[in-house]
Amino acid sequence: MSSSHTLFADHALLPTGWARDVLLKWDTRGCYTQIAPNANCPPDAMRAAGPVLPGITNLHSHAFQRAFAGLTEYRAEAADSFWSWRTLMYGFANAISPEQVEAVTTYLYGEMLAAGYTSVCEFHYLHHDPDGHPYLDDALLAQALLRAAGNTGIHMTLLPVLYQASGFGGAPLSSGQRRFGHHVDSMQRLLERLAPLCASQDARLGLAPHSLRAVTPDALKAALAMLDAIDPTAPVHIHIAEQTREVDDCVAFCGQRPVDWLVDHTDLSSRWCLVHATHMTPLEARRAAATGAIAGLCPSTEANLGDGIFDMASWTGGDGQWGIGSDSHACVNAAEELQLLEYSQRWATRQRNVLATPAHPHVAEAMTHAAVAGGAQAAGRASSGVQRGVLQHGSSQRGEPQGLGERHVGRGQGGLQVGAAADWVVLDAQHPALAGLAPADMLSGHVFGSHRTSAIAEVWTGGTQRVRAGRHHRHDADVRSFVTARAALLGAMGR
Ligand SMILES: [Zn+2]
Repeated sequence: MSSSHTLFADHALLPTGWARDVLLKWDTRGCYTQIAPNANCPPDAMRAAGPVLPGITNLHSHAFQRAFAGLTEYRAEAADSFWSWRTLMYGFANAISPEQVEAVTTYLYGEMLAAGYTSVCEFHYLHHDPDGHPYLDDALLAQALLRAAGNTGIHMTLLPVLYQASGFGGAPLSSGQRRFGHHVDSMQRLLERLAPLCASQDARLGLAPHSLRAVTPDALKAALAMLDAIDPTAPVHIHIAEQTREVDDCVAFCGQRPVDWLVDHTDLSSRWCLVHATHMTPLEARRAAATGAIAGLCPSTEANLGDGIFDMASWTGGDGQWGIGSDSHACVNAAEELQLLEYSQRWATRQRNVLATPAHPHVAEAMTHAAVAGGAQAAGRASSGVQRGVLQHGSSQRGEPQGLGERHVGRGQGGLQVGAAADWVVLDAQHPALAGLAPADMLSGHVFGSHRTSAIAEVWTGGTQRVRAGRHHRHDADVRSFVTARAALLGAMGR
């Protein structure tokens, strides 16, 4: 029924706001070619059964951590913290097999699609075998992730992680980190191995220096130069300032706080995503926001790990952009992340509708626009599709300016617009939280009033349906594989 590549929506959330009688057309590549409000419905068009929303990018994922969501919720030390959780996480990281990684990731990506995410940025640091030796094919686990994305239909931005040290100053990796280690040279070989694989399935390839504690200043400089030689538009993601101890260690090491150091020592720009920029001074936040970098916020994980509350007032005061990620997958639900982000700001400021804007007084709508645009930019998909899959093996796009494709990529857009991937979400207009409401109120009901029952009916990516009646089409088989893999993993760990 989609042969006409045409969808008609009574109500659709365009980048400019809600529009009526919207005709959406896409091409055989799965990109929008026309989006026309106030149109007539052609006889061969599909008709959306409810309000149509853009999909949201999940800008931060460690897929294997889905295997133990809910399994670290017990007191392991007198004062549990991020650091004691990390010790537990390393136990799972070092026991999981490639087959288990693929089963867990495939289930997770289907879960993400059903939860309103149409794109994922995978911050991939599990590289080697359980003894810490490289696999015969160094890209083995990365390929498991790519297959999971391809089989479920989620757009992927793959971010191999450069992880070299266990602390500031280049301290050697601990035994718990033995599967993570790469040097700049081996990372270059990995990126060159992955580039054609990503291009063949329209995945974007970038780089994630893990954090300032795990990558020395010299290595960071060399890695960024190496990446620029391959693709100067490739996204760069980094963990930064998640914990106050990390900030204190950074100050002790170099005399500066992490975000301040990045602003002063790198060419921070809109191709960067600062994940967990939780602990910044107001001045630090405004300086970083002015570079155009995206703040990568993971509200449910940051709550779960006791990280702290992001200073959104300083960030948006500096005109900063942001997006959301599910990180450890304690929660996989875009609407719940938005709700939790807004609530964290309400706790901190003792106000309501903190993230509403003058243009979008409905806070759910304002947050959706921000997360769609910020997420597209963080994923390296902000330029209406023209840069997707441009990273070629050993080649460079330098000297070939193409619209927004050069280093200073323009502000994120994404969403329902010509040139972007033909992704959309259809809300269930009959859901009790939504039935009988106007579209703007339906979105509010979806984010703030649907509780733990999803009000999403359908999800499409690249013009192909992935989710029907709230479930990914692979759901039943993928659940069985996930449960089997998790049981085997727990058995191997003696749990
Ligand atoms: Zn992370």
